[in-house]
Amino acid sequence: MEPKFAPPDLPVLKRCSGECYKGTYTLNATFGCSHNCVYCYVPSIPSGMNKIKEFGGSLEQVRIKENVAEWAEKELRTLRKPVLIRLSTMSDIFQPVLKETGVTKQLFKVFKENDVRIYLMTKNVPDEETLNYIKEQPWKYYYIVTCANIDDKRWQLFEKGSLNPMLRLEMARELVEAGVEVELDMDPLIPGFDDSEKALRSTIRAAKEVGIKSLYAGFLFLRPSIIFRMRKLLPREVFEQIQAHYKFGGTEYTSPKQKTGRMTVLPYEYQREKLKLLAEIADSEGMKLKICEKKNGRVAKELGLPMCTKLKLLEVLKNTQKKVQLSLF
Ligand code: SF4
Repeated sequence: MEPKFAPPDLPVLKRCSGECYKGTYTLNATFGCSHNCVYCYVPSIPSGMNKIKEFGGSLEQVRIKENVAEWAEKELRTLRKPVLIRLSTMSDIFQPVLKETGVTKQLFKVFKENDVRIYLMTKNVPDEETLNYIKEQPWKYYYIVTCANIDDKRWQLFEKGSLNPMLRLEMARELVEAGVEVELDMDPLIPGFDDSEKALRSTIRAAKEVGIKSLYAGFLFLRPSIIFRMRKLLPREVFEQIQAHYKFGGTEYTSPKQKTGRMTVLPYEYQREKLKLLAEIADSEGMKLKICEKKNGRVAKELGLPMCTKLKLLEVLKNTQKKVQLSLF
C-alpha cells in the first residue's frame, strides 16, 4: 500500500510538562499507529485523537508527518544539548511504513548528528541502518521492548499489527551485546491472559534468556474509549471476561493533584495478589522490577515494590552523561 502523508503539526518535538517526563521531548513520526492494539490508550487522549481523526479517521489509517526528519533537525539546532527524546508516545518509530519509506533511519541520523539521547518503546525492531546507528553509540539509547506476554494466541488477539513477541525480544540480544540499556516492558498486563504464573514466568524467562535484566510492569486500565475499542475489536466472550475483572475496580488519575485523567483500575486485592506473584517470579529469575506508580502505585507501595517515576528518565540522562564523560578520558 502507498504510504500516506499529512502536514507535520509543528513543532514535531513536543516538550513534556507531565510529572514523569518533565524536561524531555516526545516525537511521533506518524499520526495513527499500524500496530492497532485493541487496548490502545491513544483514542483516550483528545489531542492525539483529534489529529488522527483529521487525517485518517482511525488509529490504523497511518499518516506520516511530511519531512519529519528535516523539521526535527531544524528544531534540534535551537535546543540546549543533550536533548532527551521519547519515541514514540502515540505510535511506534519502527512501524513498517516508517522503515520502508526510510523515515526511521533519516531520523536516527539526525539524532546522531545532534547529540540526542533516545528513550524508545517498541513492538517491532529497527531496520539494518538504524540498528547500526544505535550500535555505534549504544550509551545514547534506552531501548524498551514492550512485551507483556510471549504467547502467540494472545499476540494475535490483542496486537496482531505488531511484530511477533519472540522476534521483538530476539533483537534485544544483539542490542544488549552491543552495550545498549534494554528493558522489558510488561504493560499492559491483561487480567486473565497475562498474569498467571505460567504466563509471567515464561515471558520473564524469555527476556532473561536474551540478556535483559530489568522489567517494568503495569496492569491494563480502562477508560470509555478503551472499552469502546475492545468491545468493537474483540470476540464478545473475551471482552466480557476482561471487563468482569474491573467490576469492583478502583479509580486512579493520571494527574492525582488535579484529579484529571480518570481511569478504572483492577480491584486492589487483585493487584496485590498478582503483583506479589510477579515480584516473586522476577526475583527468582534475577530480574530488577519496577511498577508503574500512576496505575498501580498504591499497591506497589504497600508491598514495598520499587516504582517507576520520573527517576527512570533522569537515570537515562545521568547514565549517558557519565558514559560520555568516561569516554573522554
Ligand atoms: S503500539 Fe502503542 S500506540 Fe501503537 S497501537 Fe499499540 S498501544 Fe497504540
